[in-house]
Amino acid sequence: RFPEPVARPVRSSLVVLAGPTAVGKGTVAAHIRENNPDVMLSVSATTRAPRPGEVDGVHYHFVDDAEFDRMIAQDELLEWATVHGVHRYGTPRGPIDRAINEGRPVLLEIDMQGAFQVRRSEPRASLVFLLPPSWDELVDRLVGRGTEDEEERARRLRTARTELAAQGEFDHRVVNDEVGRAADEVVNLMQASAR
Ligand code: 5GP
Repeated sequence: RFPEPVARPVRSSLVVLAGPTAVGKGTVAAHIRENNPDVMLSVSATTRAPRPGEVDGVHYHFVDDAEFDRMIAQDELLEWATVHGVHRYGTPRGPIDRAINEGRPVLLEIDMQGAFQVRRSEPRASLVFLLPPSWDELVDRLVGRGTEDEEERARRLRTARTELAAQGEFDHRVVNDEVGRAADEVVNLMQASAR
């Protein structure tokens, strides 16, 4: 929850970036972070195993089921969800509260179920849906990155269909046609929702 500003007004914002698999949420978020060092990019906890090159504490906090259960029980997560029917992912509350207190803009890159949970607990949050230029482009990107097998791709594309159908429930929609351009558009939305 947002602490009330005490002595001085803060310019913070909480923006949630969601969108279908392989649309480029991570790339857009990383681009925003690189060019806006004051932006706090939330690091999620997950029960899935690290992929090659992923660093614990940087890309995710990789935890086991028992630790994830503990985080839920202690109310340490702002939201959490089982994504693509397999692993659990959640947003640690502490670092976000601290960033908001410091007046920093906060960016969450999470799935759609998580986005709606954040909206319920933080009505001030701004929900941004990242869209592919087309369905075929999305399929190409997913196949092109080659990190999932056929079955996992099919599962992710089923989820993507459902997510695209619900894009109207978001506050804003941004087409990821070019990373720099999409990132700029999200940054503008972050600035517009700051207070
Ligand atoms: P991946 O396993 O490919 O890194 O992520 C799979 C999905 O989990 C992505 O759609 C990503 O946005 C979502 N995700 C990552 N972190 C979180 C989180 O903290 N909460 C929720 N609800 N989804 C997350």
